[in-house]
Amino acid sequence: MARRKKIYEGKAKILYEGPEPGTIVQYFKDDATAFNAEKKDVIDGKGVLNNRLSEFFMTGLNQIGVPTHFIRRLNMREQLVRNCEIIPLEVIVRNYAAGTISKRLGIAEGTQLPRPIVEYCYKDDALGDPLVTEEHIAAFGWASQQDMDDILSLALRVNDFMSGMMLAVGIRLVDFKIEIGRVYDGDFQRLIVADEISPDSCRLWDIETGQKLDKDVFRRDLGSLTDAYSEVARRLGVLPQSNVAKPTLIN
Ligand code: 5GP
Repeated sequence: MARRKKIYEGKAKILYEGPEPGTIVQYFKDDATAFNAEKKDVIDGKGVLNNRLSEFFMTGLNQIGVPTHFIRRLNMREQLVRNCEIIPLEVIVRNYAAGTISKRLGIAEGTQLPRPIVEYCYKDDALGDPLVTEEHIAAFGWASQQDMDDILSLALRVNDFMSGMMLAVGIRLVDFKIEIGRVYDGDFQRLIVADEISPDSCRLWDIETGQKLDKDVFRRDLGSLTDAYSEVARRLGVLPQSNVAKPTLIN
């Protein structure tokens, strides 16, 4: 069997050359990392759940006209995505205070923000993904003003879609991070949602109990991460009931 070419290995995913030009195979690993990889573990089944959940969210976004890199799921751990040039920014949208905004500005976790707040971090592990302003982004040429307008619009549309989807199943979308890619169609370039959307990159709290159903369960040692992600998948109807407790692991 021909060996495929690995393009990149990150903390949670591996990217392989895809079967057709302009495509990439995105493989979801079970590795969990936090605090810039200072805390690490392997969580059986996490990759399977994130593959399915990211498929679910990206498919929904594609259907409402928010362009994403997602083409189709290939198997339990892999999906075919469109190759794109990743803009070196983490785009964070916050609806409630938590995590770094709470620390930075002294706002109690769970406080509703007056409106969604969009923040940008420069993607650089060695620097710990520092918060940057639009001034930095423009000055260093990471994105143009037109890109920034498009990124803001994409981020807010993803927020509306994800907030509604979660609210419908009793979950509060506290905040999330997305990454944006650039694709070229002939002479034109456009921006699409890339990477993944999963409980690894969102904060999700049960509306009734406040129970955390996201990666904070791992970051803060709050119990079983796969139980939390399975609960999100179960509520959204993403995995059949019988598969929820123990996802079938196919490598
Ligand atoms: P915070 O800035 O409070 O740490 O994170 C805000 C939101 O963005 C959280 O939902 C968090 O999970 C997500 N986020 C921030 N940085 C990263 C990152 O490097 N990787 C992932 N997967 N999510 C991130």
